[in-house]
Amino acid sequence: IRQQKLIPKAHYGGRHAVTMLPGGGIGPECMGYVRDIFKYIGAPVDFEVVNIDPNVDNDHDVQYAITTIKRNGVGIKGNIETKSEAAYVTSRNVALRNELDMYAYVMNCKSFPGVTTRHKDINISIIRQNTEGEYAMLEHESVHGVVESMKVVTASNSERVARFAFEYAKRNGRKKVTTVHKANIMKLSDGLFLETSRKMAEQYPDIEHNDMIIDNCCMQLVAKPHQFDVMLMTNLYGSIVSNVVCGLLGGAGLLSGRNYGDHYAVFEPGTRNTGTAIAGKNVANPIAMINASIDMLEHLGHFCHADLIRNAVNKTCNVDKILTPDVGGTASSTDVVNAIIACMSKEYGTFFPC
Ligand code: ADP
Ligand code: MG
Repeated sequence: IRQQKLIPKAHYGGRHAVTMLPGGGIGPECMGYVRDIFKYIGAPVDFEVVNIDPNVDNDHDVQYAITTIKRNGVGIKGNIETKSEAAYVTSRNVALRNELDMYAYVMNCKSFPGVTTRHKDINISIIRQNTEGEYAMLEHESVHGVVESMKVVTASNSERVARFAFEYAKRNGRKKVTTVHKANIMKLSDGLFLETSRKMAEQYPDIEHNDMIIDNCCMQLVAKPHQFDVMLMTNLYGSIVSNVVCGLLGGAGLLSGRNYGDHYAVFEPGTRNTGTAIAGKNVANPIAMINASIDMLEHLGHFCHADLIRNAVNKTCNVDKILTPDVGGTASSTDVVNAIIACMSKEYGTFFPC
């Protein structure tokens, strides 16, 4: 679903401009695959590529990237590295999300039938607060040996993300929202988040609402994941829980994630890994980034092109089982991408129905 109030207008010929931030590690090679596929089917998107130098401490590149996303309305990104360990240099990924006020992160976690896992047919949507909580980056050493780190929870952001989760459930025919928290210990911060989601639930009587403490939630997820439908949580729990769910479904290389605010949307691989150790070896799973590109096409309203790629990904992964080693296969990254392109060409030649 398109949550954004402002979908950017297409340029002449129905084309959209999208900011592409390849990032570090496996980001650039995965973006290359996306471009190959888009070029093959003639997807009506022009990328404005912005590279961010991880070695400089100033934020000029990031500010420029933010400017281009404000101009284009939409971005696709890999994980951006921040090499500096200086406390004043903040994570570029966090800065980008905060400055574009993309307060909700959505991960659709649906099992791939072609990937062998302990649990089958999982279908969980994780909605994560994306701009505050433990990611406020407000840390200081008050006296030597004593570090304080602020976790910020606001009523307004809790409300926006709770509204987002219930609207998401409603529009997608979901039955239940589970709010995940630790309000028994963090009574004020998580208490506010939980209380806000309970109030929101009253406005959606057709959707069941329950809550679960984060520690129990992790145990329940690995033991009985089918009890979950839509999950709503603060920022850090969202990061941890989405990694748990990705692990259940086959790891970091499959799922995509979507950052939404009221004005901008940015698409990326769901667990936001850099993958430094596997970069340049032709072994990275390209599917997570390709799924991010499908999400982006849908957001822009290019449904036909999105379906073309989605069907080819489905056939490649679940029917032909051409998979990279992280999900039990022996194929290289380029084998997978070539198989996806071959699928589309087998079905349509070079005249695509879009
Ligand atoms: P971080 O960005 O948190 O440092 P890593 O890059 O270390 O994360 O990734 C975590 C793990 O997931 C690593 O073992 C990495 O190889 C693996 N991984 C991440 N992305 C992919 C991918 N696209 N294909 C295969 N493995 C991946
Ligand atoms: Mg790592």
